[in-house]
Amino acid sequence: MEMRNGFAGSVGNTPLIRMAALSEATGCEILGKAEFLNPGGSVKDRAALWMVREHEKSGALEPGGTVVEGTAGNTGIGLAHVCNERGYPCVIYMPDNQSPEKVAILNTLGAEVRVVPTVPYRDEMNYQKQAGRYADELPNAVWANQFDNVANRLAHYESTGPEIWAETGGAIDAFTCSVGTGGTLAGVSRYLKERRSNIEVVLADPHGSALYNWVTTGEATMTPGPSITEGIGNSRVTDNLVGTDIDDAVQINDQRMVEMVYGQLRQQGWFFGSSTGINLCAAVDVAKRLGPGHTVVTVLTDTGHKYQSSLYNPEFLAERGLRPDG
Ligand code: PMP
Repeated sequence: MEMRNGFAGSVGNTPLIRMAALSEATGCEILGKAEFLNPGGSVKDRAALWMVREHEKSGALEPGGTVVEGTAGNTGIGLAHVCNERGYPCVIYMPDNQSPEKVAILNTLGAEVRVVPTVPYRDEMNYQKQAGRYADELPNAVWANQFDNVANRLAHYESTGPEIWAETGGAIDAFTCSVGTGGTLAGVSRYLKERRSNIEVVLADPHGSALYNWVTTGEATMTPGPSITEGIGNSRVTDNLVGTDIDDAVQINDQRMVEMVYGQLRQQGWFFGSSTGINLCAAVDVAKRLGPGHTVVTVLTDTGHKYQSSLYNPEFLAERGLRPDG
C-alpha cells in the first residue's frame, strides 16, 4: 500500500472487486471497479480533478477563481471537494428532479447550490446552459462543462483505463457501463481498445434515454421513460462520447435494477446506487451472452447513501410499482 498525498492524491487507484454471486451465477468473472471508494464517494471525483487541472493548465482558472458547473450531483460533489482543497469558490446549477440528499451534501461542502426547474437541453433555461452563461458573465470563472469538456474523458483514459488493464493483467473480454456524460465509458474503452482492439465495449442504458438507440440504430432518439436512475442516460451524444468505438448496447429497466441493488444489499453486503445496479445488470447480460469463462468489467459508481429518500424508500418504490423482491 502506498502513501497518498491530500485529497487530489487520493483520487483513483481504486480496487477491482470480484462480484462473487454474479460471477458464480454466470460462470464468468464479473469485476467491479470500486469508484465509490474515491474520497468524494463517486466515479466523478476523477473527472472533477482532471477538469480543474485542465482549466488551471490552460490559464483560464487563476488563483481564487470560481468553478461553475451544471451537474446532477456527483460531479458537483467532486468539484466542491477539489475546490475546497485548492481555494476556489464553487457554484453548482442542478435540476430540481435530483435527490435532496445531494443538495444537502453540496451545501455542507460549501458549494453555492442553485436548484433550477428541470427543462430539456434545448431550452435556454436548462441547468447546463445556465451554468455556462453564469461562468461567462463572472470575472475569473470557468465552466467545468463535464458533458463536452474532454478533460473528463481524459481522466478515465489516463487513470481508470490503465488501472483496469493493470488489475486484470490484460485478461478482460468486455467492459460495460452506463453513460451520463460518457466520460467513463469513452475514456476507459479508448484505453482498453488501444491495448487490445477485440475487448468488447457495451453501453448500458436506462429507459428514457437516447443512447441505446444511438448505439444500436445510429439515431439518437429517446426510448420511453421514465427511470428512477440518477446521473445516467442522455438525450444527446456529448463531445466526450463522439468518436468512441462502442460495440453494443443493452437496455436495463428499473425493476431489474431495483432487484439487483436489493439483492446485493441483502445477500452480498453492498449498498449501491442506481447506476451501479444498471451496470451490474448489464455485466450479467454480457456475461450470459459471452458464456462461461469470460471476464466482464463494470463500474461500481457510488453508494446508496444519497438515495435513501428514493431508491431505498419503500413508499417511493411502491408509488412507482417497483418491488425489491421482484
Ligand atoms: N453514475 C453516477 C452515480 C453518476 O453520478 C454519473 C455521472 N453523472 C454516472 C454514473 C455516469 O458517468 P459519466 O458521466 O462518466 O458517463
